[in-house]
Amino acid sequence: MSEPSTNTEPPAPNVDPSAMKEIASGVFVITDRRIPLVPNIGIIVGKDAALVVDTGMGPANGKKVLEVARRLAGHRRLLLTLTHFHPEHGFGAQVFKGVATIQYNSAQRDDLRAKGEGYLGMFKTFGPTVAAALEGTRLVEPDEVYDGASTTLDLGGRTVELRTFGLAHTGGDQVVWLPQERILFVGDLAEERIFPIFPWFPPSDADIDGANWVQVLNDLARLDPAIVAPGHGDIGGVEILNAVRDYMVDLEKRVAAERASGKGADVIVADLAPKIRAEHPDWSAPGWIDFAIRYYATLT
Ligand SMILES: [Zn+2]
Repeated sequence: MSEPSTNTEPPAPNVDPSAMKEIASGVFVITDRRIPLVPNIGIIVGKDAALVVDTGMGPANGKKVLEVARRLAGHRRLLLTLTHFHPEHGFGAQVFKGVATIQYNSAQRDDLRAKGEGYLGMFKTFGPTVAAALEGTRLVEPDEVYDGASTTLDLGGRTVELRTFGLAHTGGDQVVWLPQERILFVGDLAEERIFPIFPWFPPSDADIDGANWVQVLNDLARLDPAIVAPGHGDIGGVEILNAVRDYMVDLEKRVAAERASGKGADVIVADLAPKIRAEHPDWSAPGWIDFAIRYYATLT
């Protein structure tokens, strides 16, 4: 359903619990409805515990997610983890503090400590609806962190693996993998029909590793997931991972070719971004093409 509007203000980045789907028995996603700065949020229920994956942006969204999680969890204990530290994924964690056990990987915790306040300030400049969503946001520390590549959670009759990979979209990207059900929550390592999000904001944040990101997507595809819940966009299968990988591999080559012919980043953006956009007519958020080009232009 769409309503006619002359308003250019983007829709408020509000989580809508009525958009929740059960994608497998006891595995729920509060879908993003393709609203910018709303993530897909997972709630995975075992016999003993329920795990929430991402919170939405700001305490009001976090509260909505917590309420849904409590309803689904009943008497079970609650856990919270994040796909990465970015505001729309994790800046609702404060309402879970003391109610759920909050567990990140150590690199994600470090990202949050180093960059969280900076991102909070940056996002507040993104317009009144984003600033309103972030009103009252307080960054909180996790209760537990794990070092190394993965940790396994037993929710009671349901195993969940948290896996991390080193720098890709962020320093502490983490996927949530349900090996029995072959369901993968992938965070912003992959969006669906949305131009991949390159958080290239030098000098404050220039931490992206495109080569490792491609490697990670290949490794994740080899898990042969039956269901992929992307950070943003519609739920699907492994084709979501492959589409992002193909975009990145292709874009890196084309930017390198333009650099080899002596062009600077501004010229490449002007030449290449419209072409890339036209090649993906059904993808949204084309502004991210420019960020990706500027990132790749620094590599050559
Ligand atoms: Zn992100």
